[in-house]
Amino acid sequence: MSLVILDRDGVINQDSDAFVKSPEEWLPIPGSIEAIAKLCKSGYQVAIATNQSGIARGYFTVETLTAMHNKMEQLVNQAGGNIAAIAYCPHGPDDNCNCRKPKPGLIYQLAQQLQFNPQETWVVGDSLRDLQAAEAAGCKPTLVTTGKGQSTLKKLPELSYDVPVFKDLAEFTRALLKQD
Ligand SMILES: [Mg+2]
Ligand SMILES: [Zn+2]
Repeated sequence: MSLVILDRDGVINQDSDAFVKSPEEWLPIPGSIEAIAKLCKSGYQVAIATNQSGIARGYFTVETLTAMHNKMEQLVNQAGGNIAAIAYCPHGPDDNCNCRKPKPGLIYQLAQQLQFNPQETWVVGDSLRDLQAAEAAGCKPTLVTTGKGQSTLKKLPELSYDVPVFKDLAEFTRALLKQD
């Protein structure tokens, strides 16, 4: 079974420079929930790898993160899909952990839970560090221009490889399923 790994903020839900700190602030990007459900119904597993330094910064607790993820999973379930696994990094930029993207640790955590071939696995992100983590884990990086994606577009020349770009998760999903 093929896997698609998604970043969360700016890919599934609207990002905020002030951090997404509560279930109330967790608002899906139009079409993203339906796109996840469509991937599931088409035989893909969907997992999430997300930096959540708001925990280290004291902006919200692990319990609140779980409440946000319960909301997300409920919406996905209602649409007929499910999220196979969620890996998150609770650390801050100075903690020097192995999981905070651009490091590949979150993808390695997912690999311990789910069987997948990195070379066949798309990682969808809106930030350069999502793409770098994907590359470091041997996955296929792709960019969506929701969230921070517009400003990330300008940084793509820093990468030594080509990255497919899509308007949003819905467009990525349509393209992926058409190609199958
Ligand atoms: Mg993001
Ligand atoms: Zn970490």
